[in-house]
Amino acid sequence: MKFVSTRGKSPACLVSDAIQQGLAPDGGLFVPESWPPLEISPGWSQLKFSEFATKVLTPFFTVDPLESKLGEICKQAFNFPVPLEKLDDTTSVVELFHGPTNAFKDFGARFLALCIDALPAPSAKERMVLVATSGDTGGAVAAAFHDCTKIAVSILYPKGLISPRQEKQLTVWGNRVKAFAVDGSFDDCQKMVKSAFLSEKWQQKFQLISANSINVGRLLPQMAYMAYTGLRYQQLRQHLPGFIVPSGNIGNSAAVLWARRMGFPIGPVIFAHNANTTVPNYFQTGVWSPQTSISTLANAMDVGAPSNFERVLHLFPKPAELKKLVSAYSVSDEQIRLTIIDGFQKWGKIYCPHTATAMALREMQRAKDENQHWIVVATAHPAKFETIVEPLIKQKIEIPANLEAVLNKPSASEDISSDLQSLESKIFVTKS
Ligand SMILES: *Cc1c(COP(=O)(O)O)cnc(C)c1O
Repeated sequence: MKFVSTRGKSPACLVSDAIQQGLAPDGGLFVPESWPPLEISPGWSQLKFSEFATKVLTPFFTVDPLESKLGEICKQAFNFPVPLEKLDDTTSVVELFHGPTNAFKDFGARFLALCIDALPAPSAKERMVLVATSGDTGGAVAAAFHDCTKIAVSILYPKGLISPRQEKQLTVWGNRVKAFAVDGSFDDCQKMVKSAFLSEKWQQKFQLISANSINVGRLLPQMAYMAYTGLRYQQLRQHLPGFIVPSGNIGNSAAVLWARRMGFPIGPVIFAHNANTTVPNYFQTGVWSPQTSISTLANAMDVGAPSNFERVLHLFPKPAELKKLVSAYSVSDEQIRLTIIDGFQKWGKIYCPHTATAMALREMQRAKDENQHWIVVATAHPAKFETIVEPLIKQKIEIPANLEAVLNKPSASEDISSDLQSLESKIFVTKS
């Protein structure tokens, strides 16, 4: 199985090449060249997720150097549960936040780290993961890579725009994992990372590795849990579920569409956005017009120019086909607050602000079609966002053990301004 670029001007390559390159040489994103026919067995819904993921991902790794290691990688990466909780007769919640940093990004980051660690270094240069984070990516990547002693990690995050506990999760991993607090927005951080990848100087010094959600090594395991969830739901409830996905850079949303394309039982899909309306605007007007990101309560979704939309358009070249299946809406901070309060009062459930965007839209769907079943994708544990959630529910949130452990470690980060030179002055240590 080969991977090609969404822009069609890069040579097809194997998955491990696509993983190591991150972005395709023509600036596009890697996508599977074709969709392998997969004989989906109903029994798969009984498997542990790591076993299920191995089955679903195997066709993408045939003849790849990682083929024989795939099972072991899945087993090691996915050593935590993926619960599907019933809320009412037509609503369930899939909890993707039981990994080491309590957000879905653990799936992709852990899988990616193990894949890269298992591959031989392509050159004698030091390998460095360079990543921009709007909140959760950095922590997941730091936690996933900090054991890979051959690989350095540098994380850029917008200073003051991520939650204190998110910040903790990306600043406690010791010397090889460096965190930089950038005086700017997530988009500024992402721009800096992009220019480093394009810079001659950086290329000479480092073998740079991209761990943002453009990396297909993150997207494939996300496709697998969407497939797993759809299959399990259909077996349990005998209904085709729709998915409502909290969306920022469109990784999870692309992943659910890929899972559907593979033939898994997935019905309509709703992308839930916060006040960053680039994607909802596209659905309304047909015009793709990236915006400057604005900060909201759901900070990991504060993305004004969502990269993975290119993969969605590649899968659905005809806008009419896309719109038949997918819709996208924006949810305000006020709606997020009300949904968190409502969820606690009505169901006794506590949602993180990201999950609340999806839950708000689930409630709105009731008026449209009460027979459609929906799975709400819960992307992070609410305890990561206690400064937002606790005042709303007027109660302390119990802290999961892995978060507690991180909170007790000493943290370190360096402040830099939002230009590449500023980062270079910290990373390119000149020996005199
Ligand atoms: C990253 C993130 C999102 C957005 O996911 P995308 O795949 O970038 O659309 C939503 N919720 C949480 C908690 C996140 O960390």
